[in-house]
Amino acid sequence: MFENLSDRLERSFKILKGEGKITEINVAETLKDVRRALLDADVNYKVAKTFTDTVKKKALGMNVLTAVKPSQLMVKIVHDELAELMGGEAAELNLNGRPSIILMSGLQGSGKTTFSGKLANMLKNKQHKNPLLVACDVYRPAAIEQLKVVGEQVGVPVYSEPESKDVVSIANNAIREAKAKSYDVVIVDTAGRLAVDEEMMNEIETLKNAINPNETLFVVDSMTGQDAVNTAKEFNDRLDFDGVVLTKLDGDTRGGAALSIRTVVTKPIKFVGTGEKMEAIDVFHPSRMADRILG
Ligand code: GDP
Repeated sequence: MFENLSDRLERSFKILKGEGKITEINVAETLKDVRRALLDADVNYKVAKTFTDTVKKKALGMNVLTAVKPSQLMVKIVHDELAELMGGEAAELNLNGRPSIILMSGLQGSGKTTFSGKLANMLKNKQHKNPLLVACDVYRPAAIEQLKVVGEQVGVPVYSEPESKDVVSIANNAIREAKAKSYDVVIVDTAGRLAVDEEMMNEIETLKNAINPNETLFVVDSMTGQDAVNTAKEFNDRLDFDGVVLTKLDGDTRGGAALSIRTVVTKPIKFVGTGEKMEAIDVFHPSRMADRILG
């Protein structure tokens, strides 16, 4: 994950090795390299520019601390700004509903169904919740089956109505069932398309308004770089979602989505998916991610 970006940043900091202090000239040279590394990692252009401008201001402002070597100072400032860029603190899931309703959104193939299973598993095992999965992807014949397989793997029941195409009714029936049977979290998996289209957006918007979820999560494949960020913006404009789930961070993703999404949609990344297995889920910690990026 982010290997290339890590290497490139490390090389950028070498420009400052042996320098006695940070100057306008060496900081500009270093940050030109940092900006190029960010752009090559598919970070949004404006995000990269604002980032290096902020780091420059801080580095020049902190230059009085002569006890710290310039390269170390730069690493520290870049680390803190990377964490800030990704949201600062880890963002919690809102589980205050009775039951709590979590709505999944995102394109087809982004990892919604897999993540629904992972989240159910995590809530069950780590927070002792009693979740119910709900199959609201009514278009792909295999979708209900896939959610059932996932549900079986994690030992969480799946509510489905194979004959119905009315997602609002399915979700409402599931919520009623959850109340009757003491399920405390209802995770609603929905249909995605290969690209953003009006019909899909209308459907999920109607569903969201009808069930008023505690959390609407937008699931996105981190491998899709700038597209991930553009798709996030389109979904957020319609759904005003609460958090992002960044999947497939185990692949050779370059990092752009992780670093740009927060600034572009002003919503936190809440979870990451790091593999196909049901255990491959992590709560997203901006500072820890910055640690990983800087190696
Ligand atoms: P959906 O169409 O949004 O429901 O997406 P799926 O859950 O069906 O996932 C699409 C594909 O991505 C499947 O082959 C999953 O196994 C795979 N997948 C999902 N999450 C991850 C992840 O975090 N890492 C990897 N490597 N694969 C994932």
